[in-house]
Order: sequence, then C-alpha cells, then structure tokens
Amino acid sequence: MIAQQAFSGPAGNAEEQGISRREFLKFCSFITATLALPPLYTQRVARALEGPSKIHVIWLEFQDCAGDTESFLRSSHPTPAQFVLDLISLDYHETLMAPAGKAAEASLHQAMNEAKGKYVVVVEGSIPTADEGVYCTVAGKSAVQVLQEVAKNAGAVIAVGTCASYGGLPAAAPNPTGAVGVGDLVKDTPVLNLPGCSVNAVNFSATLVHFLTFGQLPATDDLGRPLFAYGDLIHDNCPRRAHFDAGRFVQEWGDEGHRQGWCLYKMGCKGPQAHSNCPLVGWNDNTSWPIGAGHPCIACTEPGFWDTSTPFYQWMGESSLPASERPARSGTPLGVALGLGGGAIGAAAGAAVMARQKRKSAASHAAEERPDEGA
Ligand code: SF4
Repeated sequence: MIAQQAFSGPAGNAEEQGISRREFLKFCSFITATLALPPLYTQRVARALEGPSKIHVIWLEFQDCAGDTESFLRSSHPTPAQFVLDLISLDYHETLMAPAGKAAEASLHQAMNEAKGKYVVVVEGSIPTADEGVYCTVAGKSAVQVLQEVAKNAGAVIAVGTCASYGGLPAAAPNPTGAVGVGDLVKDTPVLNLPGCSVNAVNFSATLVHFLTFGQLPATDDLGRPLFAYGDLIHDNCPRRAHFDAGRFVQEWGDEGHRQGWCLYKMGCKGPQAHSNCPLVGWNDNTSWPIGAGHPCIACTEPGFWDTSTPFYQWMGESSLPASERPARSGTPLGVALGLGGGAIGAAAGAAVMARQKRKSAASHAAEERPDEGA
C-alpha cells in the first residue's frame, strides 16, 4: 500500500532528488533492521518519514576534532543533503551554518525559542570543567554554561562520539582540562550516548528515525547506549570469530595468518571487550570496517577510551576474557587445547550463545515495551 503512495513530508523531496520509491523503502527497511525492529515496522518508519514533522536539531561542538561532523557529512543513509533537507531541520551547527558571530548566536536563540521543549541537542566533543571551564568558551560563555542553557529546554540530548559520551581523548590521563561527558552535567533532560571515534552515521540516522517515529529515544544499556547498536560485543558478530574459536591467531603483521584473515586477538584486538554493531553495519556504506581491513579493534566505544585501550597493539592476555570465551592455543583445535570432551565444548559454546541471546532478548523486550506498537 505504501508503495503506491506519493511522497510527501520530510521524505517528500526524495523524488525531486532522484531517489526512487524503491530506494526510499529500501532505506526504511535498512533502518528498521538496524533498530532491531521486526520488519512490520518498516511501514511505520516510512509513514513517519513521509509525515509533516521534522526534528529540530541544535548541534553544539566543544572539545572535539569535528570527526563526528565528518561522519555525519559522509553518511549515505540518507545522504547529508537528505538529512538536512528532509529528515531534520538543522537549525544551528557552527561548522556548517552560514552565519557567524552575533548572527550565529541569534540563530541559536531563535531555534531555542521556536522549538522550545521539542528540539534535539546533538553534542560533539567533551566539556572541560577545570578552572571554571575556561578551556572552551563560546560567545563569552563556558561550554558548561552553553550546554546547560541549551539542554534545559530540549526534548532530548544525543552525545555523538566518545568524547561527548564519556570524555574520550581529552579526558585521557592526566586530563588537564577536567573533561567530562554530557551525562555528567545534564541531569534533567534525557541523554543518549552514541560513542565511537567517530560516531557511526548509520546509528545516528537510526536514532533520529526512532525519535521521529516513536517520539522517544531508543532503549539503552546502563551506560546510556542504545541496545540496537551496542547490545552485542564486537567479538560476538566478528567474521574472524571462527578463527578465534579454533585458535588461529595472527602472530605478527603481514604473516600468513594476517594474509589469511585470522583472528587479531594477540595483536591487541579489544573486540571481546567492546560493544558495537560495527561488524553488522560497517563503515563507508558497509564497504569495510577496522577488523575487516586487518586492524585490531581499539574499543573506542567504551568508557575510559583512550587510557583503557592503550597500548593498542599489546595483547591483553587471556585473563581479560571469561573462561567460556578463552581461545585455544594458537594452531590447536579448541577442545584439544582446553582438554575438553565434546560435551564440555558444547557447554562452553552454549554459555557464550546464551549470553548473546540474553542481550538480544533484552533489546527485543525493550522494543516490546514501546507504548505505541505496530505498523
Ligand atoms: Fe574478531 Fe577481535 Fe574477537 Fe578476533 S578477538 S574474533 S579479531 S573481535
């Protein structure tokens, strides 16, 4: 039925931009799957995108490298132009907006007044709190003051990237600026964290679509990360996992194992500690991702990054894994190395699978609790 409807609303310019109805619905299916929603939600997502509502977005940058803005600009689901023109109303973004100085400040206050209580604040970069916030000021106000003023009347705050989520690189020891994440300062407005260095534009798109479709942020884990994107360990979905389980490890860069795509665990891979859907959605239109390109995961989505991830290329040792997840010795079949019989192997594998299923069930349970279900 939707396939016969004409375009209107936020996605209404799609045809004018040369995007076919088929491509539009393909995007809706992709985002629905990314959100870990049943396929029947595709029509509901499509209707939300075709409706008249747009999300008013105020994008603030503090101690950042603009990498999340770059990720946003490079997104292809939808393209940046579609983002700006169709899905959201990007009312304030210091890097992208035309006004500067007092005109920029006027734009900010106009956006805050016109969409009071409804706008979404996107924050990029950590917030310095040392020495009264003097290390980052905008228009004579500290980043702390700007954030609290803008977040106060927002419908939701989305921290994009690890710096905005948990402090990130600026918070690395000895953290001279007293850098913290958004959640340390904003307490009265819902805050969602989309960590990663940088944020994955697919997850950012999906979060905005969820907000537009359901009027609320997606369910999160206890670190404020949406379960649809951070509910699984990278290790759980890694295409090199079979090599890990079989004890086939890269021992040095460029060796035969590296050429054959073996597991990077002993080259310092932090995939067993890092939560992200990187293996499923990838980067650059899912053409590749770090482990796919032969580089270990550096756990950039976790609190404590960078201090807890460095040195990047040093094996953390098997003691960093739960017993059921520990690999066989290099080149040795799993059961032989651990001295296990078939039943024990099955139990160990079963424990890992059950842990995964528990996380997925938590995510779908959260989906079931959405107040306004169905297509
Ligand atoms: Fe993949 Fe890293 Fe886990 Fe190996 S240790 S299976 S490369 S996530």
